[in-house]
Parts: sequence; C-alpha cells; structure tokens
Amino acid sequence: MIAEIDVPSHTQALALAYPEFFCETAHLDGLAPCTGIQKGVKKRYLVCPAKEPMYKFYDAVIKELVAIFPSKDIHLGGDEAPTTPWESCPSCAKQRKELSLTDAKQHMAYFLGRMAELVKANGREPLFWYELDDSLYREGETVFAWYAQCSDDAVVAA
Ligand SMILES: [Zn+2]
Repeated sequence: MIAEIDVPSHTQALALAYPEFFCETAHLDGLAPCTGIQKGVKKRYLVCPAKEPMYKFYDAVIKELVAIFPSKDIHLGGDEAPTTPWESCPSCAKQRKELSLTDAKQHMAYFLGRMAELVKANGREPLFWYELDDSLYREGETVFAWYAQCSDDAVVAA
C-alpha cells in the first residue's frame, strides 16, 4: 500500500482549514471540504509555492505517513493542477523573480522538486502522476500515466 497526498491541487479541505497556505488570489468562499471537483466550483485550488509554512506543514504530514505506511514510496500526485492562480498571485510573482523562474511551469517544477526533497529527507521516494510535461520531473523520478492517452508519452519520457 502506497500513501498519496496530492499536491498542489486537490486541496479543497486544506484550503478551508489553512487558507494562509493559498495564493492571495484564491477565493475560498463557498468551498466544501471534499476532494476532487466540487460541483459549481470552476476553479482549482493550488497551494501557494511561496508560502513557507506550507512546506513545514507537509513535512509534518510526510513524517506522519512514514510512521504509518511501511512502503518505500510516497505518492505526491501533481496532477490536474493548472497554474492559473500562481500567475496572478503577488507572492508567487515575487518568488519567481527571486528564483529567476521565467514562468509558472518552471514554478511548478520548482514546487514539485521541493516537495520531492521533503519526501527524500524523510527516507522515502516520491512518486508523481504524469502530466504530459517532462520538464516537471527530475531524472530518476517515477511517474505514473493516469489516463490511457498519455501512456506512450510517459514511456518515452522515462
Ligand atoms: Zn501564490
């Protein structure tokens, strides 16, 4: 059994509990504490990669998973996360500038890499859903094709 925490999207319940982990542009009114797509809510809620306390929170979550699940892997998700909120968030823009990231796609690669390092620092290997963009992952990382159309691309990327 492999534990999965899906980041940076699929975080509606987290958005209600810890709105400070989200972009300034996130509008959280009317959200229900469920995962997936909430009927009538068109936006995706992504944690803000510029909010440092969010990484501390996820480090604590990973430590808890390590204590519960013996698997050598922890799945970080990474799927279904359009970066629209990051493109208009002042904190994200400031961080992109500080890190010399040219766009939100590079920001996603930075964020996923940082989350992967949290998993590795806790003695486990990170897994991801494959999102049709090789630049999001680092060499040697394991990705899973989660719908049939992208399977060939995932094999080529591997
Ligand atoms: Zn942000």
